[in-house]
Amino acid sequence: MKITISAIKADVGGIGGHTKPSDGLLDAVRKTIKNNRDLLIDHYIGYCGDDVHIIMTHTKGVDNKDIHQLAWTAFEEGTKVAKQEGLYGAGQDLLKDSFSGNIKGMGPGVAELEFEERPNEAFTVFAADKTEPGAFNYPFYRMFIDGLSNTGLIINKSLAEGVIINIMDVEEGKIAELTLWEDKPTIEAALMYPGRYVIATVNTKDGEPIVSSSTDRLHNIAGTYVGKDDPICIVRTQKKFPATEEVGSVFNNPHYVAGNTRGSHHMPLMPVKLNSAATIDFCIPIVIALVFSVHDGKLTGPFDGFSTADWDYIRQIATQKALAMRSQGFIHPATLVPSELEYSEGYKARMEKLESKMKPLKDDKSSFQRKESYEDPD
Ligand SMILES: [Mg+2]
Repeated sequence: MKITISAIKADVGGIGGHTKPSDGLLDAVRKTIKNNRDLLIDHYIGYCGDDVHIIMTHTKGVDNKDIHQLAWTAFEEGTKVAKQEGLYGAGQDLLKDSFSGNIKGMGPGVAELEFEERPNEAFTVFAADKTEPGAFNYPFYRMFIDGLSNTGLIINKSLAEGVIINIMDVEEGKIAELTLWEDKPTIEAALMYPGRYVIATVNTKDGEPIVSSSTDRLHNIAGTYVGKDDPICIVRTQKKFPATEEVGSVFNNPHYVAGNTRGSHHMPLMPVKLNSAATIDFCIPIVIALVFSVHDGKLTGPFDGFSTADWDYIRQIATQKALAMRSQGFIHPATLVPSELEYSEGYKARMEKLESKMKPLKDDKSSFQRKESYEDPD
């Protein structure tokens, strides 16, 4: 049976700040989906920090208008409650006034996969808060390219052959298809810059989809800072794909990502339990793992992937790394690079003021002139 999994998420309001959705907001989303369940085989609704995710199974394929419309309407209904309750950032991810056929590019994050269901179909959804789509670059690298992190890349026949990775340039709106293992250094060069190059999909060489990940960056849609583009992805697991534990373990080294408070800092990505609020300790970026089985489109789960005892230790490491970075305040690399901060009106205003006070040096020397191009001495 061919099924589609659609994972769509949005932040439409948080209690007292960017923390978590209210029960009323979640009820409104749930009710909307339930009232339209004829469109779906099954669904699950939860949250990660202030982001609500709707995970749906159906037979309508990816980019389906009815499915996207349903998610949009559910988030609109959630927004109505958020406004009634005075929640912070009510409707903040709904960047357009009305739905126009595809929810992509309208604010919510979308990951979708269509495939022929295996008898024991297994997949994990990772949803993150207080960060950006590039936050998944490092875990995906460990999953599909780094044999030291994933022995399956050596001893699983399908994975050892390499996969096809589509990388999106989120600034230019272009996409490149790259193939392992021949394009390995090119993929690495792209993943080095998570603010611009983001893994969108991963497929096997015989065309089986493994990963779909959201790639929208809100500032590209809105032109200014309107909150972080917290990503969501679907990863199929087991058999010819990475094992569930190979997929989960790539989050066990909390790496620094862009995001957290005011979307302007670097902090480690901390794996947390399902339906966790964002911490008010400077909004450490968080990620959850929803582990599912699916049969004939019917979901069993989610099992809470980061709920076992060992992840408490990883959370301690993340907290230590967060405190270490915060100990240097606003000094780089604690804060983002200027090109990312420029979407912040406040930062722009400060830099304009600084520029207005800049004067040429009185005894300007040629040594201060910029070189036109850098030449490698070798
Ligand atoms: Mg969020």
